[in-house]
Amino acid sequence: MFQDTLVHESQYYELMLYPYLNIGGKDTTSVVMTIADITKSKLAEQQINIAAQVFESASEGIIITGSDHRIITVNAAFKKITGYSEVDIIGKMPNTLSSGQHDKKFYQEMWEAIEGTGEWQGEIWNRRKNGEVYPEWLSISILTNNDGSPNGYIGIFSDITKLVRAQKLIQQQANFDLLTQLPNRQLFFDRLQQAMIQAKRQNKLIGVMFIDLDGFKVINDSMGHSQGDIILQKIAERMTYVARESDTFARFGGDEFTCLIANMDSETDVIPLVEKLLQAIEVPITVNDIKLNITASIGISIYPNNGDDAETLIQHADNAMYKAKAEGRNSYQFFTAKMHEQVLNHYRMGNDIKIAVQHKKFQVYYQPVIELKSQKIIGAEALIRWDHPVKGFVSPEEFIPIAEDLNLISVIGEFVLEQACQFIANLNKDLPQPLHIAINFSNQQFLHEGCVENSLKIINASQVGSENVIVEITESLMISNKQQYIQQLDKLRENGIQIAMDDFGTGYSSLSYLKKLPLDILKIDRSFIRDILVDESDASLVETILDIADNFGLKVVAEGVEEAEHAEFLNKRGCLLAQGFYFSKPVPEEQFITIIKSGIQV
Ligand code: C2E
Ligand code: MG
Ligand code: MG
Repeated sequence: MFQDTLVHESQYYELMLYPYLNIGGKDTTSVVMTIADITKSKLAEQQINIAAQVFESASEGIIITGSDHRIITVNAAFKKITGYSEVDIIGKMPNTLSSGQHDKKFYQEMWEAIEGTGEWQGEIWNRRKNGEVYPEWLSISILTNNDGSPNGYIGIFSDITKLVRAQKLIQQQANFDLLTQLPNRQLFFDRLQQAMIQAKRQNKLIGVMFIDLDGFKVINDSMGHSQGDIILQKIAERMTYVARESDTFARFGGDEFTCLIANMDSETDVIPLVEKLLQAIEVPITVNDIKLNITASIGISIYPNNGDDAETLIQHADNAMYKAKAEGRNSYQFFTAKMHEQVLNHYRMGNDIKIAVQHKKFQVYYQPVIELKSQKIIGAEALIRWDHPVKGFVSPEEFIPIAEDLNLISVIGEFVLEQACQFIANLNKDLPQPLHIAINFSNQQFLHEGCVENSLKIINASQVGSENVIVEITESLMISNKQQYIQQLDKLRENGIQIAMDDFGTGYSSLSYLKKLPLDILKIDRSFIRDILVDESDASLVETILDIADNFGLKVVAEGVEEAEHAEFLNKRGCLLAQGFYFSKPVPEEQFITIIKSGIQV
């Protein structure tokens, strides 16, 4: 017999040839040929082959069970992912793989879905043969017979360990601060919101702390940011150390941290933690062999007493933190309604200042500076004035700090400098002896780039003569002890400008900076002058300052001279210069011109 398969135009035929035997069984030379169309069965065979190849080479693990759930077959990827071989697994139940990470309910719902809709998909944690638990994305479908009756199940899964790991990392980065590993602002908000929902239900209180390190900026600037980072990490570690399970510390940004204290019965429940935290932070930190004493100021707000949304609570804790700073640092303050009022006022004032800056609504007043011996006016101090549309004149002591916060102080400072230099330059044209003009510079101004260059430009353009210009700085500039400031002052002095230390004696009173600083003048603060006639200690302090100034070769201006006797006392003790209401209050330009023209003698 002869048999062969023929292919013609995508059709398969089976050809068979066999000899024709006659009835007697004798051989003949005839043959019988049959041709059958076997296309259908040929194609079915091919499909089975393809399916088998797909099954074996798929990158997903495939597991097929009978309707009794026992495993019938698995593919190569299954073996690779799980570590089980056919011998290990065939005939077993799929729960051989289960990790114990899911509860009964999970599997119950899964099977309900499969029986109900014919399929289920989801993330499931299984266990490899070596014991390792891993996540997989699994889809299970029912296999059916031709008549639709269930025949078994097929599970197809991929190992998503890498994906889950990446997701975790992304989540970590989105919710945690990379430097300190503490929750970040976003996660803190979420937790606070969750805690509020729970507190409302259980009638509990929540404490929110706003923690700011004292003077950290100075440390960061002087020691460098990488050292600053180490300090922040150490502080964060201490926070984690004092925290109880229900407390969440978070890094809010820069040197600001927050803490959430959940489940409180009384406002005072927060105190033990705050005090423990302050103590923990206070312990000196050694960085690069330098022992640093770091402290923090903490503000506290309480839910629901001080607000019922996360932003308000944090804002109020922040306000209270500022109060703690103002009260002398290394301490804590609870938020009060009065603080809220102050903050609101601060905010409104800030908006008004912005408008005033835009429309140049400021004026400059001039207070004469007198040579005590001759009682002649030798110069003036320029003092800014702001006539607020509703409040009337607002003290510069009130609005300058706000302008500093808003980064508007340089614009304002340059405005005053320009006005004052031009005014005095014009006035000096008609005077035999030119007047000096003293301008107050805020510390913040020096932080702005080009501060000195811009100031020199303004001074030169006015033609007042830089030798007639005095820049007044305050002692607080010195705490940071920054070389950068000193360089700027040096540059001003190289250009002939004199430097005066304003309000001398009120600040840090460290005499060491007198040596380091390029100074020409000391201005004794008016609080010491006020009582020199009645308070002996003030009198001797002023005398000491005069001596020190003499030693350092500095001129002295006494501020706040309100009475003839003050002037007399100071003159007798060798003080050269003075200013104060006794001679004249600060006055507008026209009035100052009148004073000067009326013969200079006061
Ligand atoms: P300061 O530089 O120490 O100015 C002296 C302050 O004492 C002025 O207050 C002045 O009016 C006041 N004063 C003068 N003589 C007497 C007196 O005999 N008795 C009393 N009780 N007070 C007297 P003012 O003008 O309110 O300025 C307050 C502070 O605001 C200034 O203190 C200065 O630090 C700051 N300031 C004023 N103008 C400017 C400015 O243009 N720029 C900057 N950055 N600060 C300014
Ligand atoms: Mg001044
Ligand atoms: Mg002063």
